[in-house]
Amino acid sequence: MSPDSDTSPASSSPPSNGTPSAAGAGRDFGFETRMLHAGHIPDAETGSRAVPIHQTTSYVFDDTNYAAQLFELKAYGNIYTRINNPTTAAFEERIASLANAVGAVATASGMAAELVALMTLLEPGDEIVASAHLYGGTRTLFTNTFQKLSVEASFVEPNDLDAWDAAITDDTKVLYGETIGNPQGSVLDIEPLVELADAHGLPLIIDNTFATPYLCRPLDWDVPLVVQSATKFIGGHGTSIGGVVLDGGSFDFTTIDAVAEPSDSYHGLKFPDTFGHQGYLMKTRAETLRDTGASLSPFNAFQLIQGLETLSVRVERHVDNAQAVAEHLHEHPRVERVAYPGLPGNHALAQKYLPKGPGAIFTFELSPDGQAPRAAGKTFIENLQLFSHLANVGDARSLVLHPASTTHQQLSDEEMRASGLSPGMIRLSIGLEDTNDLLWDLDQALHAISQ
Ligand code: PLP
Repeated sequence: MSPDSDTSPASSSPPSNGTPSAAGAGRDFGFETRMLHAGHIPDAETGSRAVPIHQTTSYVFDDTNYAAQLFELKAYGNIYTRINNPTTAAFEERIASLANAVGAVATASGMAAELVALMTLLEPGDEIVASAHLYGGTRTLFTNTFQKLSVEASFVEPNDLDAWDAAITDDTKVLYGETIGNPQGSVLDIEPLVELADAHGLPLIIDNTFATPYLCRPLDWDVPLVVQSATKFIGGHGTSIGGVVLDGGSFDFTTIDAVAEPSDSYHGLKFPDTFGHQGYLMKTRAETLRDTGASLSPFNAFQLIQGLETLSVRVERHVDNAQAVAEHLHEHPRVERVAYPGLPGNHALAQKYLPKGPGAIFTFELSPDGQAPRAAGKTFIENLQLFSHLANVGDARSLVLHPASTTHQQLSDEEMRASGLSPGMIRLSIGLEDTNDLLWDLDQALHAISQ
């Protein structure tokens, strides 16, 4: 399916003006309407228009029979905030609506989303085949922590389909990639990868952190599962860590042993048989989230809801500023190369999957003219005045990182190049400031490296 619409009959929720029955029944509400209304109707008791923060650990059961039903998953309701919470549920329903998902499980962070999504699918001895263009933390999760659980990962060039095919073995249980690779900025060719995953009967998980559901909805391309760090553009203001697992409802999880087999902790319940296309998410919540405790706090859910309410407006502005900055740097004599998919040469996949723009995070290479690139990188960072030097992306403020003097400082120049990075490489996350002020800041810091 080639997605071209921002409305979704399957998941659109009516605006909630307090009289939901009068609020446009049968209408497919647009993305912006759902950003503001999906997942919440005003509180019946208080009339609270904003989603309230339910800052509680636990919920009083109506009676003992109801309590027993909740614990057997025969009724769906609130038990304990490690498993579910009304504020978090509003966030889950809203982001599920925006991503065109059948449901969502919110988590404590983007890393927690990856952990619970994969732990629900995998057993010891299983293997992951993943794109080599991944966030460093994800790579460490796969190569370090998962190895302790006897799960192995192999990494392939993201758009080399033959390499994906060759890496799949009888033990492979999942394929994994990023819509826009961090930090390389490469756009994943999702459609053929979905076909390959289907041919092998494997679920594909896409990390959609850099794109957000506004720029790309991998579920519309029939990707079975999406994970997303909500810490970045979803929250959008650098205040709250969170994540989410989203299921498109397209994958038959009765074929995956780890999901389909009878559950020991629910009297032999088979999640996909019992809950249909909600089976994978129910198992993720009722078992993996329950047992790992990787849950989102209600306060952070509230913050992330505030971010969702302005998502498209902010992301459009992020993209406009990023395009302007990338074009400016591309022409700058102190810049060797800019890896932004919005520049000519990188265009085809970006236009296919990210027609509203390829995000606002990219790297560029300094051309320091005599100075060692690593030293030039430090000089550049030290002279910036507006860009904040820190290890995050997707804030309303513009951010900068020089991997060679921070995250990768222990690597030699040669080792950096071997891992696809370089000593003069700078990563930018472009914020919402006045465009001309950003260009001024970059120009004056680039000027400093020529002194
Ligand atoms: N995925 C990507 C692409 C990221 O860039 C990050 C963090 O930078 C994560 C996942 C992890 O998200 P979090 O920091 O919310 O755990």
